[in-house]
Order: sequence, then C-alpha cells, then structure tokens
Amino acid sequence: MKNKPLRESHIMPSSHITIIGAGIIGISTAAFLQRAGHKVTVIDRVPPGEGCSFGNAGGLAFAEVTPTIRPRILLKIPGWLLDPLGPLTIRWSYLPKALPWFLAAGRNALPDRVRKITAARAALGLRVVSDFETLLTAAGSIDLMVKKDSLRLYDTHAQYQAEESERAVKREHGYEMKKLSPGEIAEIEPDIARDFACGAFHGGWYYVRNPQKVVASIAENVVRNGGEIIQDDVLKVAQDGSRATALTLKSGGERPLDRLVICAGAYSNFFASAFGDKVLLEAERGYHLVIPAPGITLGRSLTYVATPMAMTPMDMGLRLAGTDEFAGLDAPPNWKRADVLWPFAKRCLPKLREIDQTVSRWMGRRPGTPDGLPVIGPSRKLRNVWYGFGHSHMGLTWGPTTGRLLGEMLSGAPSNTDLSAFRVDRF
Ligand SMILES: Cc1cc2nc3c(=O)[nH]c(=O)nc-3n(C[C@H](O)[C@H](O)[C@H](O)COP(=O)(O)OP(=O)(O)OC[C@H]3O[C@@H](n4cnc5c(N)ncnc54)[C@H](O)[C@@H]3O)c2cc1C
Repeated sequence: MKNKPLRESHIMPSSHITIIGAGIIGISTAAFLQRAGHKVTVIDRVPPGEGCSFGNAGGLAFAEVTPTIRPRILLKIPGWLLDPLGPLTIRWSYLPKALPWFLAAGRNALPDRVRKITAARAALGLRVVSDFETLLTAAGSIDLMVKKDSLRLYDTHAQYQAEESERAVKREHGYEMKKLSPGEIAEIEPDIARDFACGAFHGGWYYVRNPQKVVASIAENVVRNGGEIIQDDVLKVAQDGSRATALTLKSGGERPLDRLVICAGAYSNFFASAFGDKVLLEAERGYHLVIPAPGITLGRSLTYVATPMAMTPMDMGLRLAGTDEFAGLDAPPNWKRADVLWPFAKRCLPKLREIDQTVSRWMGRRPGTPDGLPVIGPSRKLRNVWYGFGHSHMGLTWGPTTGRLLGEMLSGAPSNTDLSAFRVDRF
C-alpha cells in the first residue's frame, strides 16, 4: 500500500502559522488557531474587515441550506443577464474569462449535485451560532450579534407557493418558518407596506449590527493574546520542492514561513494557481447602499421575493445589500447597481426616505466558487499550506466555523464534520 504524504499537522501540534487575509475567514482562523496554542501572524494590505467582509448584509444565514444556483433560479438567469441593472449581470467583455465558471455552475444545478451541496451547506451551518459566540464572547463584543427572527415578503400567494420545495428542504434540516398574514406583518413591523399578500417568518435568525466591527473586534483580541497583524501586500510565496518557504512583501521585506493558510478572499487564486492547485474562483461583485436615519423603524432583517437583496437595520443606518456582477477583480464599480436597490426597499418600506448625499455606497468582491462552497483544507501540492476561501454569498455566516475547522485540522484534532465537499481538488 502506498504511504500517504505526511502533512505537517501530523507532526507539529503547535507552531507558527501565517495567514494571508484579514477578512472574517482569516481573522476567525487566526483566533481559533491561537486558541489551539499556535502562534499566529495575519498579513493583509488593508486593516481587518476592510475587504469583502466590510459591507455585507450582516445575515447569519445558516438556515439557507439550498444552493444559491438551483434549478428554479437557473431558469431566471437568462432574463436577469439581459438587464445591466438586474440582480445578476456580466460585463460581456468578461464572458470568455468567466465561461468555465458558468458552465461548472450550470452542472452544479443538476438535482444530484444540488442534494450533495445542500448536505455540505447544512453541515457547515450546524455550529455557526456557537462558533460566533465563542469568538465574540472572547473578544468582548457579543452585543454585535442580534438574535431576531427575519421576515420575507411576497406580493402574491403564488410567489409564496413557488418556494414551498425550498422551505421543505429547510424544514428537513430543522429550520422552521411560519406564514404570516398582512395583519400579522403589520403587528410586528408597522412600517412595512400593508399590501403584501403574505410573509414568511424565519425563526432563530441572527444578524450582526456592523460586519466590519465583528472582524475588527476579533482581530483586536487576537493581538491582545499575542498574535501579530501586519498591514502589507503579499507579492509572492517562494517554494522549495513541496514546501512554501518565504513571503515577499511589498514593503520590501521577506518573511520565512513555517505553515501558511490562504484566506485571501476573491484574490486567493493568485496563490492557489501559483502553487499548482486548480480552482475556479470568480469575484461575485455585490453592492450596498446605507441610508442613515432612514425615516422608518425596522427591528429585523427583511428580504423581498422580487429580487435577491437584504435590508438590515445596522448601527450606521438601514443597509440595502445584494446583486451579483461578474466583471473581474479590477473593473471600476457601477454605482447604479447600488442605487437600484432603493426602489425595492421603498416598495417594502413606504416611509423610507430618498437617496441624498448622506447615503454611502460600497462594492465588495465575494469569493465565488461555482458550487457556492468554500475550499477548506490542505493544498494538494504544498505540504505546509492550507486554504480557507471561496465562501461566496455565505462568508460571514461560515467564517467562524471555517476558522474552527482549520484550527482543528492544523492541530491534528479530529473533526466531526465531513469535509470532502470542500477539497481543493474538486474543480
Ligand atoms: C453585497 C454583499 C452582501 C453579502 N451578505 C452576506 C450575508 O448577509 N451573510 C453572509 O454570510 N455573507 C454575505 N456576503 C458574503 C461575505 O461578505 C463574503 O463571503 C466574506 O466577506 C468573504 O470573506 P473573506 O475573509 O474570504 O474575504 P475578504 O473579507 O475579502 O478578506 C480577504 C482579504 O485578503 C486580503 N488580500 C488578498 N490578497 C492579498 C495579498 N496579496 N496580500 C495581502 N492581503 C491580501 C484582502 O485585502 C482582503 O482583506 C455578502 C457579500 C456581499 C458583497
């Protein structure tokens, strides 16, 4: 029998670990590795939580077990793509580059794949709340996490009925929803329009009041506990045989490596492809619009069936966040895609005030894989490198859990989660 290559987690229970990327994934990974007794250094060109983790909708969406791309959604995509301000768009000059990704995404919408992806998503969702609580309690910022049932709004009963199969899958995984009448909606959220046909009330939902602060507060705790966070751009990783040996930094320095974890979000393929690991990763660019003092009162996160976006009451105002744009990493933002969220929110919340110079707009690059699942696990090429990236629409939700799983993996601790769906060699 052929011997398995010896990974360094089997021989080094505690060590120095460098993490590239200080988003929710990299910082959660650093925190869990530190809890397991390792020394950690995190390197990012921007401060913690200033990448894609800055501006998301703040939803801990662990109940969203069905994949983002699924048969019912697949049918809507051609229509969406024709509208440059629609929920999903591609800049046509970018299509040849993104085509392999789209073809793979299409294959992942086949029923057998959907079942497997659903099982993997459900497994990652199981300990989201306790992993968040572990990190935020230790950081002294548990108040950033709000436990509040969420609400989805429907213009017609037919729209509600069309989602029954997805609700059935959620129920199978233990997530309950209740249908609300317009009167019941008005009772819990008086500022919502009175003419919706019905709502779906998701119990046991959480959101965070400020996603950037979540990351920053965990990062501060990592530093308090002796971890190092360096602001710099990693230009290159030197390799010697099957090991990564040193990082070259933009500031001019070189840093030797013991073990390395790549949590560089949408930029992670820069490293994975240099190491020889083939990954399909696209920047799924999303937008937000934050309306300070929005003129309405809202106690929970809302979604509206007409478009994939969320409305979340945050510390800085009402955040409208969503849409998906394929244009590569570096194309300039199209701010109309942020403003297009406003009319949908106004439909739901008629007293919402107009857009003026006080609103803020943001674009973030979701690290998107064609199955919507992250890569969590070892490089197939370098024996002292691990990956934690590709969390697509669910990175905030799955961040702390990914950190715990990588913490277990790099410490040689057994995991009770089946990690086969997250392997880097699946593409
Ligand atoms: C509009 C929108 C709404 C969303 N809503 C939700 C939601 O409600 N719930 C949810 O769970 N998820 C949501 N997401 C997704 C979530 O925000 C992402 O999946 C998550 O932030 C990804 O985290 P990350 O740590 O992988 O990436 P990032 O936060 O982008 O962190 C990666 C870091 O790596 C750094 N980096 C990259 N390359 C280098 C290099 N060479 N040298 C140094 N540093 C480097 C970058 O600067 C960056 O800071 C949303 C996303 C968007 C855009």
